[in-house]
Amino acid sequence: MSYCFNPQCPNPADPANKNQLICRNCGFELLLQNRYRAVQKLFGGECFKAYDNETGKYKVIGHLLKEHPKAVEIIKQTAKVLMKINHPGIPKMDQDGYFTQDGYFTKNYNTHYLVMEYIEGLTLEDWMTQRNNKPISEKLAIKWLKQMVKILYKFHCLNYYYHNIHPQNITVKPDGNLALTGYHILNLKIDSFYHSHKESEITKPPTGIISPGCSPRENQITAVSNFLLLGQVWVFLLTGKPATALAENPRTGKILWREDAPYISKNFAVNFADLIDYMMAPFPGNRPQNCQVILKCITQIQKEKAKIISNDQETSQTKTQNKQQKITNKKKKKNNIIYSLINWLNQRWISTWNLLRKMSQYLGLMAK
Ligand SMILES: [Zn+2]
Repeated sequence: MSYCFNPQCPNPADPANKNQLICRNCGFELLLQNRYRAVQKLFGGECFKAYDNETGKYKVIGHLLKEHPKAVEIIKQTAKVLMKINHPGIPKMDQDGYFTQDGYFTKNYNTHYLVMEYIEGLTLEDWMTQRNNKPISEKLAIKWLKQMVKILYKFHCLNYYYHNIHPQNITVKPDGNLALTGYHILNLKIDSFYHSHKESEITKPPTGIISPGCSPRENQITAVSNFLLLGQVWVFLLTGKPATALAENPRTGKILWREDAPYISKNFAVNFADLIDYMMAPFPGNRPQNCQVILKCITQIQKEKAKIISNDQETSQTKTQNKQQKITNKKKKKNNIIYSLINWLNQRWISTWNLLRKMSQYLGLMAK
């Protein structure tokens, strides 16, 4: 397969392009940089899965078709950040992962390309669809949230805020761990880089009557707006329902989701559900202000859960010990009764024997 990179190509998936260097339908080169051959369109056509002839690995290639100073700045910034980060949950980018080519799509401008590691797996959305949107366990939800917050922390440390947290942009890898993927929003309208969340059926901005200072749509992408969307994705995982399908408190704007989450704990001092609500607080100032706060909460929840589990184990151990003691005592009591009986019988037998002996002696004497 050789997929044509040209969005205007009349037949980009033409099988006759296989192993060709130039697209027979539009004349666009099929071996980008003499190295990358697209094999599949990804993310609704915004970028491609491509085979890298040099490394023998699959890569993700995104391209910016419209020259715009802000967009170019963002794409360069994205490249700089991805090149710096080395984390199993974030696609790696080589130093030559960003390049430009003179304008084929736009005659007077260059086309900008980003090439990054292709992370195998299913998007969280597809993963949930595969299990008929069955809610996940709280244990898995905690494990995954910890992974995701650690991933976001890598970006936040570099003052970079991922702007479109969504189940389509999170990948469940074959080893069961999560990765944040989908750095493909390269040819969206320029405004979307800086403003508004991508319209989504799963996540939603708060819409209730909300505290002063919280705009209904949070236009500024910051750590706390990342946490709001992350919280909503986790509500989706825990309930199997998109945030848009759940009711919200008309007074506070809080999403009412706990009744739909079958596996959440309710009896801890700090419940995981409380953390999710904390992340989704309608007023941004009431949310965790950075990743460390969330990670601390998770550690506390895990410690408390472990304590309760160990207490349970201790209680059940004590119960078992008591049970065994009771059985031993019962056996002892039984043995004591038998022993006393044997002893009594023995005593009776000795005295009977003595009596018989005496009687025989007496009778013997009489005979004499
Ligand atoms: Zn073509």
